Amino acid sequence: MNPIFEDLHDKKVLVTGATRGIGRAIALELGRQKCHVIFNYRSQKSQVEALQAEIQAAGGKSSAILFDLTDANQIKESINDFVKDHGPISGLVNNAGISKDQIVLRLKDEDISQTLDTNLKGPMLVTSALSRSFLKASHVSVVNISSIVGLMGNPSQISYAASKAGLIGFTKSYAKELASRNIRCNSICPGFIETEMTETLGEEVKSNYIQSIPLQRFGKAQEVAKLTCFLLSQASAYITGETIKIDGGLYI
Ligand code: NAP
Repeated sequence: MNPIFEDLHDKKVLVTGATRGIGRAIALELGRQKCHVIFNYRSQKSQVEALQAEIQAAGGKSSAILFDLTDANQIKESINDFVKDHGPISGLVNNAGISKDQIVLRLKDEDISQTLDTNLKGPMLVTSALSRSFLKASHVSVVNISSIVGLMGNPSQISYAASKAGLIGFTKSYAKELASRNIRCNSICPGFIETEMTETLGEEVKSNYIQSIPLQRFGKAQEVAKLTCFLLSQASAYITGETIKIDGGLYI
């Protein structure tokens, strides 16, 4: 099933962390929906050109802007420059994230800060920098990529789980604050998805996890991308502040 959401045609959508994994799948699916996909990059210019070519080959337009999620000034400057040159953005996917797994006794101050700065503060800064532009756009939709771990917790993932639970609180508050301007905001909570982030798990760990997933497999990045497109489109016009799990039944 490859649904086309016609209202996404030419919609300007910023996707963070599109260089790999789930973000990349979202950027390519948005390309297929003929969106203007804007994505951030940190340094690797070669990755940028390849991704732009793929988005265009899929049918979309693309722009790349430079910012690191832990750099508040860079976020503000890059977003303001883009909006000044190209006009308001009407979709945002806060996807980029990191995990620095460690048991509580070994938690390091810098790992906690880096995780919270990237996964929680970064999305807040990006959303805040775009919010003035959102007020001038129509059918605005923000999608925050949280995690099932933000709902159910996980050993050795204290800071990651806290950052993802925080993202759900941010989603609900933003949805309430901006609903009167017809700006929507929802969270997606993926379970285990096949990307570089889960590639590092050993085979035994993976097969143990699969036994606890009722659908008995890891999810695909494209499956998260399709749900994201639905939430960005007007097909979901009456959904806001919601937390949607995509986890093969892991957390029923
Ligand atoms: P991934 O393959 O590790 O990719 C992470 C992306 O985030 C990369 O594009 C990376 O850019 C970017 N990024 C990391 N730190 C950044 C920073 N400081 N500033 C700007 N960009 C930064 O991750 P993934 O598995 O696709 O996960 C994507 C999202 O889904 C994350 O929020 C993750 O927590 C969430 N999630 C994933 C799973 C899963 O099973 N994979 C499950 C639940 C939730 P660079 O290329 O520059 O490093």
